[in-house]
Amino acid sequence: MAGTVHRLAVLGHPVSHSRSPAMQNAALAALGLGEWEYGAIDIEPGRFKALVRGLPDEGFVGANVTVPHKEAALAVADEASGAAEAIGAANTLVFERGMIRAENTDAPGLLDAIGEFAGELAGRRALALGAGGAGRAVVWALAEAGADVMLWNRTHSRAEELAAELGVEVIPPELHGEVDPGAFDVIVNASAAGLGDGDGLSSLPLDPAGFRPGQTVVDMVYGKGPGTLVEAARRGGAETVDGLEVLVRQGARSLAMWTGREPDLDVMRSAARA
Ligand code: NAP
Repeated sequence: MAGTVHRLAVLGHPVSHSRSPAMQNAALAALGLGEWEYGAIDIEPGRFKALVRGLPDEGFVGANVTVPHKEAALAVADEASGAAEAIGAANTLVFERGMIRAENTDAPGLLDAIGEFAGELAGRRALALGAGGAGRAVVWALAEAGADVMLWNRTHSRAEELAAELGVEVIPPELHGEVDPGAFDVIVNASAAGLGDGDGLSSLPLDPAGFRPGQTVVDMVYGKGPGTLVEAARRGGAETVDGLEVLVRQGARSLAMWTGREPDLDVMRSAARA
């Protein structure tokens, strides 16, 4: 219908720091979709379900979901993709035909960000750091791609629970600072270590001197510049991917689900990094 605005938003608490509105609005404008708009809604956990149920009547056709609502987003949906079900969390909601559909683009977005190497993960050694919502998606994505996954988490019992659920191994908790990063072909920091431009690497179990050429290191956390994990990995000659590239890739997949169009990744990158 002419003049109808198709509304989208990222739902989180807090959400003011999110780069998604700038990134998604730039992509929508570049596609010529002037009647689409993407905002941000700060919603407390206790009000999340009621808010989501009411969004379609307010003209919303979809949403991204961030901390702390990804599990609640799966629970509120009428139907869910196999990936969202297996991961136990959704970062994308699609409202169509009176239904709420839950999707997870964090997992394929991570593999997109890794690039060609993602197609060569079968049988490779992978280390996932973090067992929160992002960690769940990362472990699932790496294991689905055929990698031999090990998991570390600050709270070891959470690592053990997730590892048992998704069928991967855990790093023993006593190895803090002594885990050799060079033993892994791919390392993904999906923990909040380094958030707020702190020294993320010092909170992780890795020996800073062990990075090497031929491995890929992804830091999902993003801040003003590369974190200490990415800096150490680069010093060792590893390929690195930062959190903004992962954000762009998961966002591009969400946008394609809502609009049926493929966004310009460079437009999204420029807006995310501005
Ligand atoms: P979450 O569910 O709240 O989980 C937080 C995780 O970080 C837990 O594993 C927690 O360990 C760990 N953690 C917190 N502070 C830590 C520290 N100082 N040192 C080591 N580990 C610490 O959050 P999430 O959704 O998984 O997100 C985790 C991070 O990934 C966030 O920084 C988020 O911004 C980022 N992320 C980025 C993207 C992207 O597109 N780039 C997408 C999703 C998430 P405990 O179990 O011990 O508490």
